[in-house]
Amino acid sequence: MFNKMTTSKSDTTTGSLRSLKSIDTGKRSKSPSSYRKKCDLCHTPSDVLVRCRIDDTLNWHFVCTSKCWKEVSGGVVDGPDKPYYVYGGMWKNKHAGVSAKKPKGKTGVHIEDWNAYNTRYVTNDKVRYSGRIWVCRKSHQSSETKYPGVDYALWKEDEQRNRVI
Ligand SMILES: [Zn+2]
Repeated sequence: MFNKMTTSKSDTTTGSLRSLKSIDTGKRSKSPSSYRKKCDLCHTPSDVLVRCRIDDTLNWHFVCTSKCWKEVSGGVVDGPDKPYYVYGGMWKNKHAGVSAKKPKGKTGVHIEDWNAYNTRYVTNDKVRYSGRIWVCRKSHQSSETKYPGVDYALWKEDEQRNRVI
């Protein structure tokens, strides 16, 4: 019975393909953990990392979700308290079968809607207006005419942040 397998040419071809495949998947020369990526900050290999900007270089970093992400974001997905922090998605080790959900945290509750009535805004204050985040460029007292999207001397759009919203 076994002889029949090796007699015909087509069987031999299938056999060699099969053995190639088994090198890729069956043999598992690399374990899932070898595909881990290191956290840019503490250099601990991890299956799930948060891609984010954390400083004025505006480079994207990969930071671990356990410790470093909380430090750079302040524990808030949108990180409104950290001027350079921008959330840029989750990285996950595809070989590890992990789920990479956005880290749990409050979602930008710190950013309030723009208020037209005599609200004191200072430089780098952030507001929501018209579905976007705006950053105060110059300290001022709000009024109905000084609203984001019209007075560009006072408000600039937070482009990085609006891109990932
Ligand atoms: Zn880390």
